[in-house]
Amino acid sequence: MRPLALVLVALLAGSLAAQEGETEDKATGYIEMPASTDGSYTLASPPGSGHNFGKPEEIQFLVAVAREWHRRHPDLPRICVGDMSHQDGSDFPPHKTHKDGLTADIVTRPVNVCDIHYANADHQVELAELFVAFGARQILFNGDAVVQKVKVAQKYELHDDHYHVVLDPKKLKDDSKPLLTPVAELADGATFGGACVEQGKLVLRWLALGAQKPKSLKVSCDDWTGTVKPGETRCVVPANLEHGGSHRWKLEAELASGETVGFDWQTIKADLVAPVVELEGPAEGASVAAAPELGWSFSKQGATQASFIIELSDQGTKKPTLRIGPVEGKDGRFLLRATPLKRNMRWHWRVRALDKLGNEGVSEWRSFKSSMDYKFVALQATAARACELRGSDGGALDKLKKGEVVTVLGEGDERLAVQTARGKEGFVQRGDFVFAK
Ligand SMILES: [Zn+2]
Repeated sequence: MRPLALVLVALLAGSLAAQEGETEDKATGYIEMPASTDGSYTLASPPGSGHNFGKPEEIQFLVAVAREWHRRHPDLPRICVGDMSHQDGSDFPPHKTHKDGLTADIVTRPVNVCDIHYANADHQVELAELFVAFGARQILFNGDAVVQKVKVAQKYELHDDHYHVVLDPKKLKDDSKPLLTPVAELADGATFGGACVEQGKLVLRWLALGAQKPKSLKVSCDDWTGTVKPGETRCVVPANLEHGGSHRWKLEAELASGETVGFDWQTIKADLVAPVVELEGPAEGASVAAAPELGWSFSKQGATQASFIIELSDQGTKKPTLRIGPVEGKDGRFLLRATPLKRNMRWHWRVRALDKLGNEGVSEWRSFKSSMDYKFVALQATAARACELRGSDGGALDKLKKGEVVTVLGEGDERLAVQTARGKEGFVQRGDFVFAK
């Protein structure tokens, strides 16, 4: 039998060795996400649960985004921070990641904006963009709009009901001063198109984050410099726009303290080529007895159609009397089945189609005639997600559940005019519904 002292020495040595071996992959310096002091966010797991640790930059990042979101939308649900990392960066099942101190799962409460079934995609995109503006390098989420519009967002299995957000600490922004950042479409290296042009002039846009506002704001673009109101987030500049042309712009904001903040030169390039839109069927003057399928082709080198608008007129080609869309997607066909055309009438129509930069191509006008026996057959559509029935003024009239069936009475812009099974009439968003086959 060995003396007790030796056994102890051996045990201590063994435990020291184990500790040393582990320090290589055990993180240090992680701190715990505090409970909110201003009510701008909540925590899914309470302090002390061990779920809420991260690098100090991560804590600063989450607090900044939560405050900005709550400041912009005091009436919308607030951020609820879910699993982050353990204090020592150890495995955090069931997550495969969540060890780097820079990762957090995000939802909002009481209603979850970060859910694919949440009705307002604009809110989802705005929240994702705020995370990016403050330094996120990756967002995993299965919402289509977020993935389409936010460059660092991608789909990943099991991410229907939260954003998995990873910070790049080098990109972290400080919100103790006014924080100005170019919108993604006009950030350094971006190519811009028609969406950033108004009446031939370049429209610069930026995000203004943080609680504090600057005292004055100066915009420079190429050789031009001007001032805008401190709260402004856009400026029309007299840049000489040409396809392929390169421009640079920056913002300088002066604070009450005399300090200057803003961002340095962003170089952007113009793609101003309009796509060509050519009509296919129906042929000019065709007679239609049922909902006609309108067809067209979109052509522009290196580009695909991002959205389209159909214009119809029962008064000639000067003035569209009905506008359908924008409808998103590459489709070059549209079945006019939700529009009651009335019988024996001439309808003029044309298609405006846009690429993803907002460059628009417009087709020529064509016409068809609804026949004497044309009949509008009201069709049924099913809610693909929970959504709202709204009045013509946009006010909410009723809530519709996912799977609920409505009768479609007409269409216009991005909306469908519908009647619910309970007999209420109003408008819904086209994208929230699928038509019965
Ligand atoms: Zn996650």
